[in-house]
Amino acid sequence: MNIERVMVIGAGQMGAGIAQVFAQAGLQVKLNDMNQEALDRGLSGIEKRMLRAVEKGKMTEEEQKESYSRLSGTTTLEAASDCDLVVEAVVENMEVKEKVFRKLDEVAAPHAILATNTSSLPITEIAAVTKRPDQVIGMHFMNPVPVMKLVEIIRAIQTSDETYQAIEEMTKKLSKTPVEVEDFPGFVSNRILMPMINEAIYTVYEGVATPEDVDTVMKLGMNHPMGPLTLADFIGLDTCLYIMEVLHEGFGDSKYRPCPLLRKYVKAGWLGKKSGRGFYSYE
Ligand code: NAD
Repeated sequence: MNIERVMVIGAGQMGAGIAQVFAQAGLQVKLNDMNQEALDRGLSGIEKRMLRAVEKGKMTEEEQKESYSRLSGTTTLEAASDCDLVVEAVVENMEVKEKVFRKLDEVAAPHAILATNTSSLPITEIAAVTKRPDQVIGMHFMNPVPVMKLVEIIRAIQTSDETYQAIEEMTKKLSKTPVEVEDFPGFVSNRILMPMINEAIYTVYEGVATPEDVDTVMKLGMNHPMGPLTLADFIGLDTCLYIMEVLHEGFGDSKYRPCPLLRKYVKAGWLGKKSGRGFYSYE
């Protein structure tokens, strides 16, 4: 299958990055957001990042102009009608995603593949709300998208081999590395990362070591580029708690029990970097 035209839905942190890498790989890209301000912010963020890449010598001025000219903005989902692939990156909420997929199923071309960038919701359930479940798949990009090389490709139980192969090929065209994953809670990335972060929080909760010391052990001892608590603050403690709940509920196994200290921080509104306070202070 030849993918030439793409629509990315949601112009937030992830959607704007995803639109950027598609445009830089030579595809025609429509970036969609239901909110015009968010759309404008997404597009101007892409332009800024591309101009910075030119300054750093990572892209020529001509490449920047060409890539940026392949991008356009839209606030209607109907604009997906001439696209071969749609990648959804709206808020992490099943109801919202199901609504978007129902609408896309109506308006997108019959051959179009519908992908979701969800980091925790079951792809199988999203696929089931469409009349083309074999053409629905998870395309889990990492943050920040232009920098991170991995894309987890998640097969819903209904996903066809043809759909999987088209997305695997597309991922390579973006100069990223695809990894094939089955649809189970947390996929591979968050199933391994989040329990590690949760355990780091338990280590602080039980008074074994301070957040700084836990991070130092993991950085200097395990060669992690960033300690787990710094990373948790960066991801957002509410997001970490949400994903632990998905794992706990999905597997029904007590080993995924979210640490009470994590719950307490989220209740206090200490959500990490975005709220100014988490395991560290960001004033
Ligand atoms: P975000 O809040 O930055 O952006 C979401 C955007 O979607 C907003 O601009 C919002 O206006 C828009 N939106 C909401 N409902 C919409 C609708 N019905 N139609 C069109 N636009 C709509 O969120 P984000 O961090 O970019 O996350 C997006 C998705 O990517 C989520 O599913 C998230 O789990 C996943 N994800 C996030 C990360 C991360 O590190 N942030 C990493 C991997 C995957």
